[in-house]
Amino acid sequence: MNNFDKENFANVHSFESFGTVDGPGIRFVIFFQGCHLQCKYCHNRDTWSTENNQIYSIDEIIDRILTYKNYIYPSGGVTVSGGEPLLQVKFLINLFKRLKEYNLHLAIDTSGMFNITDDIKELLSLTDLVLLDIKHIDSEKCKQLVGFSNEKELEFARYLSDNSIPIWIRQVIIPGITDDENDLLKLKDFLLSLKTVEKVDFLSYHDMGKFKWENLGFKYELDGVRSATNEDIERAKKITRIFLKIRVFFLFLKLNLCVR
Ligand code: SF4
Repeated sequence: MNNFDKENFANVHSFESFGTVDGPGIRFVIFFQGCHLQCKYCHNRDTWSTENNQIYSIDEIIDRILTYKNYIYPSGGVTVSGGEPLLQVKFLINLFKRLKEYNLHLAIDTSGMFNITDDIKELLSLTDLVLLDIKHIDSEKCKQLVGFSNEKELEFARYLSDNSIPIWIRQVIIPGITDDENDLLKLKDFLLSLKTVEKVDFLSYHDMGKFKWENLGFKYELDGVRSATNEDIERAKKITRIFLKIRVFFLFLKLNLCVR
């Protein structure tokens, strides 16, 4: 069932009413159905297909969000995630325009693996924060890991930076795959070239989504790769050493604004 009005209806996987990790404050999170990447570590393999339809109208989604408005307002907001939400960009433009009327903070959780089309630009002009998943800083390794090289997502990050859109970076640390020291140093250099990165999170790889691959009849390709430990995350932080610089930079900005 793919034949529906894609400007006013969306294919949704699920909702989360009290998200706490997908942006500031309490978030109402909408997980959109469908993803064009093939991340080998994906723990939501069931979100890839665009055929598993639960179709919702804008009004239905807004009604759900407003039920929780007292919890998410003013410090929280709404985050669109997936799957890959930007596959349904025309719907998101209309949804965000409506949500702006309620003065809600709006965030997008995306891989950024898209051309910067006029639709994407319009959506980003309505967006308060992008949670950008950097899949792999090395283009060839990125292709092996998720099926696409990383040029588009790096270009996407530059566009966000050039247009003053706040970014929270995320990267999954997969032992032996995304934690090479030279790659982490390259990631650090890239992130320091961006002007609007507010936060960097290294997420621990785990195989808790493996059962979804197997239930759907697919082979889990990272079988045998161990989960990342706290030590792996601390090592990645230590190698990149970007957190302090970013915090100091924003503290400096805030102090500057305060004294003016
Ligand atoms: S972008 Fe997200 S949903 Fe899509 S394959 Fe990768 S991890 Fe899974």
